[in-house]
Amino acid sequence: MAASIAGLVAPRSGAAQAGRLDTDFIIIGAGAAGIAAARLLLGLGRRVVVLEARDRVGGRAWTSTEALGLPWDRGAQWLHNGRDNPLWSLARRAGRDPIWSDFENMQVTGPDGAAQALFAGFDALDDRIDRAATQATAQTRLDTLITGAPWADAALHLSALSIGGDPAQIALQDAAMMESGADALVPGGPGGLLGALAQGLPIQLGHVVRAIDMRAGDQLVVSGDFGQLSARAVLVTIPPMVLAQGALAVTPPLPARHREAFAALRPADFIKVGLRLPAMVHGGTEFAVDPSALLAGMGALLHLDPRAPLASVLFAGRHARDLAAAGPAGLAEAAQAVLYHHTGQRAIATDSHDWRADPFSGGTWALLQPGAASARQDYVAPVEDRLFFAGEAAPGPFATTLGGAWLSGLAAAEAMDAAV
Ligand SMILES: Cc1cc2nc3c(=O)[nH]c(=O)nc-3n(C[C@H](O)[C@H](O)[C@H](O)COP(=O)(O)OP(=O)(O)OC[C@H]3O[C@@H](n4cnc5c(N)ncnc54)[C@H](O)[C@@H]3O)c2cc1C
Repeated sequence: MAASIAGLVAPRSGAAQAGRLDTDFIIIGAGAAGIAAARLLLGLGRRVVVLEARDRVGGRAWTSTEALGLPWDRGAQWLHNGRDNPLWSLARRAGRDPIWSDFENMQVTGPDGAAQALFAGFDALDDRIDRAATQATAQTRLDTLITGAPWADAALHLSALSIGGDPAQIALQDAAMMESGADALVPGGPGGLLGALAQGLPIQLGHVVRAIDMRAGDQLVVSGDFGQLSARAVLVTIPPMVLAQGALAVTPPLPARHREAFAALRPADFIKVGLRLPAMVHGGTEFAVDPSALLAGMGALLHLDPRAPLASVLFAGRHARDLAAAGPAGLAEAAQAVLYHHTGQRAIATDSHDWRADPFSGGTWALLQPGAASARQDYVAPVEDRLFFAGEAAPGPFATTLGGAWLSGLAAAEAMDAAV
């Protein structure tokens, strides 16, 4: 936190005084989107204050050593889309060269040739999604591409798992929009990387924003338990799942377009469990999956960290919801069973964070409710050229990911700067 702004956020009561501007721009949230925006605006020499509710930066990128004794990503883990990811070059510049995480390096339960058959199913699926998307309506869902051919359908279910739901929950529009590309792990995790990129930014931790008052015309007043702060423009990076819960009061109320968009961007059904292994079991295999479990709606994807005795088990859709309902012990046991199935090992510790119950996330990432075609665009539409929105839910080929959040933060910062 920069010492020079510490005095800015002093408790004040009543409406902001006319003409008094505390800063040029306020950014709400110090996740990927907020950090990207703050860096850009500061680089232009603007006055910026970032208000962050948590006692740490990074938001849904949270690399913690506490739970498993080694750096483990409770949230975002991979840089998707390879070198096209805007964080790739930033990671390199920060001395954190990404390490390829090879999805093809997958152990697939089944007869000889199972892995090849699954990958052929993937390639064909990408083409089918692209073709179907040209004729799709807003209501078309991924499950309309189920064929009854086991390998093709197993590939589809695995794709749905990585998007974060059952095929019936996923809008084909979302599946077609999201680029899949090579994945990479980053030393110190995405949480560590964002922490490094946030160094020196004017971030106020522990500042929960509750309200924005836009009635003064040329200034917006942001308030919470910390008091009030005014600025020419405000960028909101609070996840739409949190905004849908009414966590931020805006006066006058936001247009219906925004409120409907928040409601239509629903939390993905996705759970990740971390496992601390007794020893490294990577042995050249990085991922493992059982297609028959995928087809039965009980699928899980195992990732064995190539750098440390750590593994992740990913669950999605109804299976994830059922496991979540069984509580942390049931979830840990299900993850142990997946690990045992593929490696014959049992973990010595497990960890999972409940992102849906987290009041500052409301879920892992936002998926488009089938039918709500314009929700991503509506969500980021500026209000009166003074109130802006950014985050992973913004439209674009990197939507739902760190890279998408970063790019949307940059885009919003440029738009804010041009607008005021
Ligand atoms: C389990 C899991 C696994 C994931 N895996 C990957 C992955 O491998 N690769 C990938 O690219 N992405 C992954 N993601 C998604 C990725 O984490 C997000 O896309 C990205 O972190 C979102 O960044 P953001 O800035 O939009 O939102 P956030 O990171 O959520 O940032 C928003 C910030 O706003 C703050 N905030 C909320 N409410 C308030 C308030 N009222 N006042 C002040 N501040 C507030 C929050 O605390 C938070 O810091 C994963 C997410 C999860 C949860």
